Amino acid sequence: MRTAEIKRRFLNHFETNGHTVVPSAPLPAIADPNLLFINAGMVQFVPFFLGQRTPPYARATSVQKCIRTPDIDEVGKTSRHGTFFQMNGNFSFGDYFKEGAIKLAWELSTKPVDQGGFGLDPEKIWATVYLDDDEAIGIWKRTGLPAERIVRRGKKDNFWSMGIPGPAGPCSELYYDRGDAYGKSGGPEVDEDRYLEYWNLVFMQHEITNVKSKEVFDIVGDLPNKNIDTGMGLERIASLLQGVDNLYEIDEVKPILAKAAELTGKRYGQAVSHVAAESHPDDVRLRVIADHVRTALMVISDGVIPSNEGRGYVLRRILRRAIRSMRLLGWQEGPALPLLLPIARDCMAPSYPEVAEEYDRISQYAYGEEERFLQTLNAGTTILDLAVTETKATGGRLLAGDKAFQLHDTYGFPIDLTLEIAAEQGLAVDEDGFRRLMAEQRANAKADAKARKTGHADLSVYRAALEDGGPVEFTGYRETVRESRVRSLLGAKVAGEGDEVSLVLDATPFYAESGGQLADSGFITLGGGRVEVLDVQSPLPGLIVHRARVVAGEVHPGDTAFAEIDIDRRRAVSRAHTATHLIHQTMRNFLGESATQAGSLNAPGRLRFDFNTPAAVPASVLHDVEQQVNEVLLRDLTVHAFITSQEEARKIGAMALFGEKYGDEVRVVEVGDYARELCGGTHVERSAQLGLVKILSEASVGSGVRRVEALVGLDAFSHLAREHLLVSRLAELFRVPGDQVADRVEQTVAQLRDAERELEKLRTQVVLAGAGALAEGARDVHGIAFVGTEAPEGTSANEVRTLVQEIRGRIPADRPAVVAVTARAGGKASLVVAVNAAGKDRGLKAGDLVKGALSGRGGGNADLAQGGGVPAAEAPNLLTAVEKAL
Ligand code: ATP
Ligand code: MG
Repeated sequence: MRTAEIKRRFLNHFETNGHTVVPSAPLPAIADPNLLFINAGMVQFVPFFLGQRTPPYARATSVQKCIRTPDIDEVGKTSRHGTFFQMNGNFSFGDYFKEGAIKLAWELSTKPVDQGGFGLDPEKIWATVYLDDDEAIGIWKRTGLPAERIVRRGKKDNFWSMGIPGPAGPCSELYYDRGDAYGKSGGPEVDEDRYLEYWNLVFMQHEITNVKSKEVFDIVGDLPNKNIDTGMGLERIASLLQGVDNLYEIDEVKPILAKAAELTGKRYGQAVSHVAAESHPDDVRLRVIADHVRTALMVISDGVIPSNEGRGYVLRRILRRAIRSMRLLGWQEGPALPLLLPIARDCMAPSYPEVAEEYDRISQYAYGEEERFLQTLNAGTTILDLAVTETKATGGRLLAGDKAFQLHDTYGFPIDLTLEIAAEQGLAVDEDGFRRLMAEQRANAKADAKARKTGHADLSVYRAALEDGGPVEFTGYRETVRESRVRSLLGAKVAGEGDEVSLVLDATPFYAESGGQLADSGFITLGGGRVEVLDVQSPLPGLIVHRARVVAGEVHPGDTAFAEIDIDRRRAVSRAHTATHLIHQTMRNFLGESATQAGSLNAPGRLRFDFNTPAAVPASVLHDVEQQVNEVLLRDLTVHAFITSQEEARKIGAMALFGEKYGDEVRVVEVGDYARELCGGTHVERSAQLGLVKILSEASVGSGVRRVEALVGLDAFSHLAREHLLVSRLAELFRVPGDQVADRVEQTVAQLRDAERELEKLRTQVVLAGAGALAEGARDVHGIAFVGTEAPEGTSANEVRTLVQEIRGRIPADRPAVVAVTARAGGKASLVVAVNAAGKDRGLKAGDLVKGALSGRGGGNADLAQGGGVPAAEAPNLLTAVEKAL
């Protein structure tokens, strides 16, 4: 039975039994800060289980995409662990409980295939239950499971909690006995590979507190609403129903594995036994490749891109491990992913059409990562080869630990690769030295982080300022001046003229730098003094600190304060910020939803906007983006900000990374009906106030992230005006209309290049023209025709070589001849010597002559040799030296 069919039957079974089918949440677990990826079907229902939200249904079912990073190391070694897998689940929110859950699971497991079930043999099913869960045991027995196939297990295996106070409860797992060939008999406690866990039923019935660990806590009582949460590994049941040994051999994975085997020339399935632990190492690697390629496909498809932290790093590791495994299996033909990833796409597209629809984007990231990694490997290999040669040259047999460390640290070169390449060269690696350096580095990093933390001794001062009077009110959304009071000078009691102070007011119109928007500047007039505000920061949420210089009088805590921001600067910054929103939305219109913001800078009149996209944005698209943004300006849309719930913001499609907790209030800024985004910044009132937006450049700022820079308002206008002036001047100089300047420049450059080539040719001719006369003037030195001359000033090295050969060619072949020409350039003299065949017969060698004249500096063969690097004044001596050697 194909995996897609198993999935269909699962959902159908539960839908028929009153469950609402809920789509899978995307893989990145953005609602839970403690989780990188969704790792179980229940994750998206957590707010229901915790009673934070009321579920709109009492029963639900889903097939959830999951990633379990802790299982990465198990992949291929067991028969049952994938990095990516799909969890079929059914959920009851205060509706049916143990009896219902067991009955529904048993029914689907054992119902014959022709009646829509999975047709598992009831005689081979085992169940585990929590130690004292007699209720579950009773139900299993009534369902038809004999006592000897019901096993009691402890907290570690059969008690479920989230590791925090809240709902928890016993669980019951279903296992399938695959027979003697797969391992030892005796039930799941004895062999978890022979007895394959395929379904876990969690009975959420208790409330726990005092949670010390997953296994140590107090049960306070029973939940008023008991819940059911189950998870059935889709790949695991597929491996059972498809009669294959493990989940890497099912229909959704095997073709990738087979392709990898074909490419590397390995035969998969070399082990004689079905026991996963006895697998051939090549088989394990092939499984890792298949698993990781599929996982990477699904992860990128859900919007993650390779990077050095968080989810992006997991993805990078997975991709690199797959690529590396291919190399270890002998693949050496350059990129492998372009051959493997399309197979994964074809495997997964029937259930997830988006992987085919968005394959261009997905594959660009994956292929790009492979290219980068191969470059790393290349760079590292050169360094390593050098180190190996050096070690051998000094008779060593051990590659130094610091070399291995440098390779790892600077080139990201994995240690196992260093070990392997060194071994091929007959060297060992000082692994202890390597590990010591790694440990040192780790210790340093830790000490560093600590120093950075304690370095912020001021944090307590900030905290005191915040506690003393509560959060500072920011009034700058609606006003630009404000009367207030100096709450604190952060440690200081008074500040006089020329001093720099950190000033906290009770309320302020000054915007503290955040979300890419630069701080306001301006002045604060106090009872007896005046300060200029240089910077405004918010070191703690709710606290706004003005860094200011006292320009007159004195400042004391408690002073009344009249705060006044620089309105022109604020307006120019706000224009840039609104423009950023418009560019963000427009980029997404043209490049798709995944072109999300990755960073920004909003400064007076200019902005920088970083966003995620796999490749350079074509000039034509940039042009269209710019045009559309400017059209929006002309529509003179109202810019409007309002506070709403996170939930509502999501519903109305506000752009954001919903990372915060549920129920948080958020501020939404909308530009008419065009752009809607979560934002705490300041903006213009109407889009026409931007005047003009001009995109200047687009460039890469790291893998998968591009940056555009743009000017806004008068700055954009001035830029265009300057460029216009420039074009006008060029047009005048070239005497063509402005729109023909580019063509004319191109033409002129081409002409210039031709002229240079012509000139070079002529110069060579001139140099060579002298060759005949020089040959005729050959002097006889001990029976050898010798020409020694200096080339004219400015003769290139190439020309000198041509000249030498030309002269040699003009001396009659039966006369032994030596030609030596020196040239000067950049304060140095060089020497080229040629010997003809008759000369060589006399035992003369050009190489020796050059080396002799230059004391070893230079080289070549018996016919032609050259050298140099001595002071220019030496040139005549070089000729004499050659002559003397004849
Ligand atoms: P195991 O002990 O075999 O690792 P588990 O106890 O971690 O399994 P659960 O947390 O109970 O598994 O997850 C529910 C179901 O999800 C399991 O019964 C199994 O079918 C499936 N599952 C769990 N981890 C994986 C994985 N890495 N790959 C494929 N399926 C998995
Ligand atoms: Mg597990």
